[in-house]
Amino acid sequence: LNELANKTVVVAGLGKTGQATLRFLRQFNPSLKVWDTRETAIIPQDVSEPVERGTPSSQFWEGVDVLVVSPGIDLTHPGIAHARAANVEIIGDVELFARVTNSKVVGITGSNGKTTVTLLLAHIAKVCGLKTVAAGNVGKPVLEVAQEPYDSVVLELSSFQLESTHSLHLAAAALLNLSDDHLDRHKTMSAYLQAKQRIFTHCDHAVVWRGHPETYPIDSNIPVTTIGIDASSEGFSVDDGWITYEAEPLLEIARLPLVGTHNILNVQAALGLAKAMGLPRDEAAEAVYSFIPAPHRCTQIALHNGISWIDDSKATNVGAAHAAITGIGAIKSGKLILIAGGDGKGADLTALKPAIDEFVDYVIALGKDGRQIASLTAHATYVSSMYDAVRTAHEIARPDDIVLLSPACASLDMFENYEHRAKVFYESIRKVVA
Ligand code: ADP
Repeated sequence: LNELANKTVVVAGLGKTGQATLRFLRQFNPSLKVWDTRETAIIPQDVSEPVERGTPSSQFWEGVDVLVVSPGIDLTHPGIAHARAANVEIIGDVELFARVTNSKVVGITGSNGKTTVTLLLAHIAKVCGLKTVAAGNVGKPVLEVAQEPYDSVVLELSSFQLESTHSLHLAAAALLNLSDDHLDRHKTMSAYLQAKQRIFTHCDHAVVWRGHPETYPIDSNIPVTTIGIDASSEGFSVDDGWITYEAEPLLEIARLPLVGTHNILNVQAALGLAKAMGLPRDEAAEAVYSFIPAPHRCTQIALHNGISWIDDSKATNVGAAHAAITGIGAIKSGKLILIAGGDGKGADLTALKPAIDEFVDYVIALGKDGRQIASLTAHATYVSSMYDAVRTAHEIARPDDIVLLSPACASLDMFENYEHRAKVFYESIRKVVA
């Protein structure tokens, strides 16, 4: 990277990642410029470099050698096309990280479960005595940890980050699953799959999901460890209430801090990656019991008069909601009341119908695309606010019932983000049950 001293580098995006990128690059003394696609972007005080907004003219790119894009920047933005036409090398912050890190790096991608598996694996590695950090799409920006002496770095990688990464060497990686998400940006499933498959480009070991060929490395023959909830004597499996490894019981499912079938897969994936990192199997497994899951991911936030209220606000796509409905539906003893809807981002919401038919007793829909979800079953109603959704659920629910907020949609049509949606859900519950 010392060669950067003679180069002109543009940093695109002035969010948390872009700012970490700027701080990192300054130590190599390149000529730096900043570009933010938002006309109204607020420039942080410590940014003294020249800033360009919107779509820069072609002249802006003359003499530029490298463009470092933040994950929020759409690679189909016309500004990127201009940079490409001017032969600018386009990379992301993860690529810069890859060029300097001395740590053992493990990567996790997929449509759903990335954060859970990343945080769980970082927890396991720490309990096993490694100096470890979770970074990337969750935790710290990668360039804040790139030059620190970590034994291992666990990276959550979005498809956008993978698209702008070329030389990342991973000791182990997993592409957890693939569902209909981000099609507004990737256009087709095959382009989305291709972006995700880039995680295996320079990788020593993959953790894959049996029966799901898209999670296997398509273009390489690296060794794999398999996971799955089907009975199998190979890899990680499930038998009689236990997670097994090569048919030996390893972890008792009832004692796991995470609920639902999808979380059994997440635990297996983290353990498979831990194994590939060389961590001792029993110690790694034991560490799972002491993990505290991140909020808004199938977490019970209230239990009142025997009614369980579950916050899965992070379910911003069909795959996540499907996993929650089937995973919780399988263990319910009373009715399952689903609150769903929001901005469907162009995804096919009818894919939820079989899971709703099998497990959901009543749907309360809201938001921009909520009517599409309400139309999937006769047992549904459409409401105009989260408060009304909670009030309606409260009227219908009886002891032993579960009320699940798992929207299958983004929140931005009604809320600031999924955390805000969860907060309004929680406050509405407090008002209604009071
Ligand atoms: P990501 O970081 O990929 O968005 P999270 O761990 O934050 O994943 O979980 C996001 C949502 O996906 C939550 O609603 C969660 O319940 C659901 N989810 C978690 N793991 C899985 C999985 N393996 N398959 C499907 N859905 C999942």
